[in-house]
Amino acid sequence: MTFLENIYEAGVIGEGGAGFPTHIKYAASPRYLLINAAECEPLLHTDKYQMEIFYKEMLEAIQEAKNFLKAERAVLATKKKYQDLIALFEQEIRDKSYDIELFSMDNFYPAGDEQITIYEAFQKAVPAGGIPLQVDIVVSNIATMKSIYDAQKGLPVTEKYITVTGEVKEPKIIKVPIGITIAKCIEAVGGSTLDNYMVLTGGPMMGRFLTQEEAEIAVVRKTSGGIILIPKDHALVERGNKSLLAIKNETRAACIQCNFCTQYCPRYLIGHPLHPHKIMRAFGVNDVYDEKFAEAALCCECGICELFACPMNISPRIVNSFLKKELRKNGIKVEFQTGPALPERENRYVPIDRLLSRLDIRKYYDRGKPSYMEVTTDKVTIPLGQHIGKPATACVAVGDFVTKGQVIGEIEMKDMGARVHASITGRVTHVDHAVTIESERREEA
Ligand code: SF4
Ligand code: SF4
Repeated sequence: MTFLENIYEAGVIGEGGAGFPTHIKYAASPRYLLINAAECEPLLHTDKYQMEIFYKEMLEAIQEAKNFLKAERAVLATKKKYQDLIALFEQEIRDKSYDIELFSMDNFYPAGDEQITIYEAFQKAVPAGGIPLQVDIVVSNIATMKSIYDAQKGLPVTEKYITVTGEVKEPKIIKVPIGITIAKCIEAVGGSTLDNYMVLTGGPMMGRFLTQEEAEIAVVRKTSGGIILIPKDHALVERGNKSLLAIKNETRAACIQCNFCTQYCPRYLIGHPLHPHKIMRAFGVNDVYDEKFAEAALCCECGICELFACPMNISPRIVNSFLKKELRKNGIKVEFQTGPALPERENRYVPIDRLLSRLDIRKYYDRGKPSYMEVTTDKVTIPLGQHIGKPATACVAVGDFVTKGQVIGEIEMKDMGARVHASITGRVTHVDHAVTIESERREEA
């Protein structure tokens, strides 16, 4: 099988968050391959941990991907603070004579956002509303490269590494089967230090909140990377759960049009016509969400405007997220012009250190590097749509016995989607938009 077929067979998708099917992405012919290894969400150690363990496998996969894509350059973008790791990468690149360049960034947020990493590494801005391929670049997350390596050995994506931290007894990096519940992951690290808490899946800047009850049902997916427990009365929770009506009232009453949200917006700073302060001005006085809100489509929801920049605790990110849905619903699409990056952008980096204080999460950061453990479970519920595009179609039925690694969700290679595989061995007990498998040993004949 070819390099691309192996990726398709193994169900590899972008593990950095978006979940773009990798065999579709790699069907392009870019000049440059950029590997994003600059995990930027505070408190997450997932990519860093995997790089320390699998840097040789990852580099081999990067070189193979570069060869396959016939890319002129492959650039591995990481952070300057990963000095030990950079030394390991350099040594391996020398030893194996790989044609891979290393690029390192300061420890700021959102170094690791795809478009910001592209700008840092290549000094090119992806056109506003566009994709990296428009500047001849394909981007993959570093964890995806380990999955690509495994795929070439015939191993499908069935496990994830996750940082579990915050109000937990002991922060850990855990390796878990895909489809395990979030609650099981929390239980595996000894539970919470609190009786009542909220769960952030993802990082503190862009993560999604779950209640304890929701965490009993929500599962680890191919794109998962972090589970953070925080008190229910934490400012992040209050901010994240604010209703749109409350934000509108706050905007009317308190937005002083200081423009800080725009001045710190990383997309505005690379030349995209995104001006959150103008959006907020219009949002405060309008209830019809038409073309005048089109700029909101450019927002990557990084959260800098509301969690760092705004002095009045107003939430442009939540508003933009709402407006994006409204624009899609109303079929509003506008062509944007991209300007030059602003000269002051380098002075507007948001240092992670300041972010930790601003978000009031320093005490979790100060607990240091989490230790590692593997977690097993006797039941998984594996969603058939964990990626952008079309969900896979179940190819197993209730009562079937499946082994770990067996295909349970199929999709054709030409389709935008990814195959799904059993993450444990056992009996299929439920099939709908997800496949539930309960652990069972098959009796030897
Ligand atoms: S930073 Fe806050 S107060 Fe200032 S313009 Fe933006 S939303 Fe309004
Ligand atoms: S969340 Fe705010 S700062 Fe981030 S891209 Fe959107 S408008 Fe800009």
